[in-house]
Amino acid sequence: MSDYIVSARKYRPLTFDSVVGQGAIATTLKNAIHSGKLAHAYLFCGPRGVGKTTCARIFAKTINCMNPRPDGEACGECESCMAFQEGRSMNIHELDAASNNSVDDIRALIDQVRIPPQIGRYKVFIIDEVHMLSTAAFNAFLKTLEEPPAHAIFILATTEKHKILPTILSRCQIYDFQRMSIENIVSHLTHVAESEGYATEPAALNVIAQKADGGMRDALSIFDQVVSYTGGNITYARVIENLNVLDYEYYFRLVDLMLDRKIGDALLLYDEILGKGFDGAPFVSGLASHLRDLLVSRDAVTTQLLHVSDDIRQRYVQQAQRCKPQWLYRAISLANTCDLNYRTSRNKRLQVELCIIECAQAAGDDDASAGRRPARRLKPLFGNLAAGAVRHAPKGSQPSQADAVAPGAPATPGALAPNPIASSHTSPNAVASTPANATPAAPSHPPLKTMRLSQLSPSLSMSKPTADAAAASQTESPAEVVQPSASDLPVSLADFQMQWHAYAATLPQEEKAMSQRMQIMSAELTVEGGIVTATVRVENYTVCHQMQQIAAKGLLAYLRQHLHNQSLQLHFEVVERNESTHVYNKYEKLKLLREEVPVLNDFITTLELELV
Ligand SMILES: [Zn+2]
Repeated sequence: MSDYIVSARKYRPLTFDSVVGQGAIATTLKNAIHSGKLAHAYLFCGPRGVGKTTCARIFAKTINCMNPRPDGEACGECESCMAFQEGRSMNIHELDAASNNSVDDIRALIDQVRIPPQIGRYKVFIIDEVHMLSTAAFNAFLKTLEEPPAHAIFILATTEKHKILPTILSRCQIYDFQRMSIENIVSHLTHVAESEGYATEPAALNVIAQKADGGMRDALSIFDQVVSYTGGNITYARVIENLNVLDYEYYFRLVDLMLDRKIGDALLLYDEILGKGFDGAPFVSGLASHLRDLLVSRDAVTTQLLHVSDDIRQRYVQQAQRCKPQWLYRAISLANTCDLNYRTSRNKRLQVELCIIECAQAAGDDDASAGRRPARRLKPLFGNLAAGAVRHAPKGSQPSQADAVAPGAPATPGALAPNPIASSHTSPNAVASTPANATPAAPSHPPLKTMRLSQLSPSLSMSKPTADAAAASQTESPAEVVQPSASDLPVSLADFQMQWHAYAATLPQEEKAMSQRMQIMSAELTVEGGIVTATVRVENYTVCHQMQQIAAKGLLAYLRQHLHNQSLQLHFEVVERNESTHVYNKYEKLKLLREEVPVLNDFITTLELELV
């Protein structure tokens, strides 16, 4: 056990050619050595674990090699190379600036710089995490960096280039190291696994590479961890188990359920995922990534953007064939919105479930429009409501009783709803009871401030579409009396608002201002004598008049039809001015200020200032 070396050290590259994923930088450094054009200071920037220190060490070894090979690499056999490889060379000094960042540490280093090398030509000073040096240390270092002795070469490495002082940057040759690609990491891991005699699945190495996020050292550390967990048999199933990665299998299943619009099963699947200890946040971002992968899988050209093994790629292509692009755009947008809102949401689970429901519902829309903001259209729920009412209504309830409470309070729609089956079975009773029941139920007189729509536009009451309502209007004066009908469903405020907004959205472009106004109006529902009355507050009489016209043109009929309540009444109530808060514009504000602050008034008058 004692001679165990972690893979990141054991498989650390020893030549420029074996450096993974940094081909351009390795070639440039090799060429510089070959042509003898060496700078005195280099700055290696890039994320952690991408080969900065490794390249610095190879560079130090190569410039000190006594018999460099024709291709510019070190021989690996001479005394200097052996000393480097065994870690006993006196020509390389590494300083970790993260822990040695004081002026004294830099002074000790500068003392070392003065002494020429005993063997070889160059002394190389590698300062890791150089951005961590204190300002005083930086300043102490600056002079040496500017005019170093001929035998000294500095290689500064940092993960945060923007923190390096410009005075340092201008004295260095700068090399930007790139994040490793997934293919590079997978191929290196495959090489390591083969050398060690481990069995691997490509998908398993892919998961490790994705988890490492572009860092080879991280990838090798994870690899070691997985090896000790799996005992050298590295399968996909064991890897996701060990790394707590959500299996892509879940996403394939979830998208299939969404496309089949099996909302219930999709929610159960999410419950199963939560039950396995996964959090909602990675699940949602994983879902968004999966949808994105499906999108790029639709086209053979973009399929190369998919960083997965071939058999998985085939599954993506297959599932992508089932998805319409419009749906994918929409679902990605929904998942993205959910991801953004997740952190601030109080009910995180509901947030995710709503996203799943909306995605599944969107799968049924043929007109799902790409590019536009995803419309949050809600499907009508009345079919279910009516069914619920049948279930809840007392079996032996009299039709007259049902009539009396028909458009019940919104809080208990199921219990108070009329029984549509009962009324259709006992239609003679229902017809007989209607006039007897309705006569005493005279409409209440509206308050002075409000105007009843049916009073102002009697034509509206005449245009009742259904048969029983028409029958009722024959017996009574059409303008004044409205009959509750047996087929009326109770109306909840939420349903009313939903239909109200839906109608506002259908108004033509030239009535856009009115449509927007309608979106912010508030309403109240009251039930009296079995008749539901919606009182909508408007800001002034002009708007009140306009709303009456809109109501007469189709709003009322629309609401009655979609709320399944033919006796629904609309009131518009003008809110008095002192009840609303007046919003001052800038001219009004200035006028008030000028009245209240005479100095300001004089000032403005004298200088003839004007508000523009
Ligand atoms: Zn050598």
